[in-house]
Amino acid sequence: MAEIIDGKAIAMARREIAAKRAAEFAARYGRPPGLAVVLVGDDPASAVYVKNKKRACADAGIASLEILLDASTTQEELVSHIERLNEEDGVDGILVQLPLPAHLDSRDVLLAIDPAKDVDGFHPYNLGGLLAGEPSIVPCTPAGIMRLLEEYGVSPSGKDAVVLGRSTIVGKPMALLLMMGNATVTICHSKTRDLPAKAASADILVAAVGRPEFVRGSWIKPGAVVIDVGINRTPDGLKGDVHFQEALERASLITPVPGGVGPMTVAMLLENTVEAAYRRIGRSPGL
Ligand code: NDP
Repeated sequence: MAEIIDGKAIAMARREIAAKRAAEFAARYGRPPGLAVVLVGDDPASAVYVKNKKRACADAGIASLEILLDASTTQEELVSHIERLNEEDGVDGILVQLPLPAHLDSRDVLLAIDPAKDVDGFHPYNLGGLLAGEPSIVPCTPAGIMRLLEEYGVSPSGKDAVVLGRSTIVGKPMALLLMMGNATVTICHSKTRDLPAKAASADILVAAVGRPEFVRGSWIKPGAVVIDVGINRTPDGLKGDVHFQEALERASLITPVPGGVGPMTVAMLLENTVEAAYRRIGRSPGL
């Protein structure tokens, strides 16, 4: 029976560290670190995510600025909001909540963000840094997963890691981080042949596919560490990408959904914001 990774507890500990660093920044430099969150349109899931991020900022002593824009906002209007935030001194981080309404081009919008303020780590400059092995701002979800592995004493070094999913926000940066940690990494996607066999080769299996209970227990190598990134809303409630009950029987460690990776994503956003604040003034957090 697998041990269940307590993402909530680790996220709380990381949030406390971020809060200490934010308080120290405010005491030294006369203002708190600041995060601007831009939400376009009225997608209910996005509104919940933004509300949670705002609350987490308040708890950590990070000033948050919410920019709520109508669904009919044009590309030019959105980019000009971002350009204004790029210039604002009290704003250290800018986050554009995705997905954007269909008429907006998220790639161009992300490109408009000053890379120094790109606390989601999605700007090609920051993704390029990761590819070059010189990461500065790392996307929050994979960064949070690396932190979970570390906290549970799982070193990727020499392990076979399999990442299911190749998105720019989860799968690809996850694979790069695991490789930087000296794992041998296989990336799978919708065109991969014989996914169960590939998954079964994993000492560390990360599922970021977006399909409820997609990964079955029989795909899991006995003793593997299973990280479930999926957040799928189903009539039976929130489900991960892994069949949790089946996986429990095979894995040695597993993240639950909810309460696993999700809370870490928010915690890493706070850490990235505080670090961006220090970096913008040429310092690093003292803790
Ligand atoms: P995307 O939809 O951008 O990417 C999904 C990936 O899964 C793609 O690479 C796709 O392959 C692959 N895929 C889809 N179907 C299959 C299949 N049948 N077999 C193999 N591979 C498949 O999703 P995200 O990466 O943005 O998110 C993945 C999941 O993680 C979602 O449930 C999302 O809600 C969740 N998520 C959770 C976060 C958290 O904080 N916990 C943060 C971000 C996301 P291809 O490239 O070939 O299309």
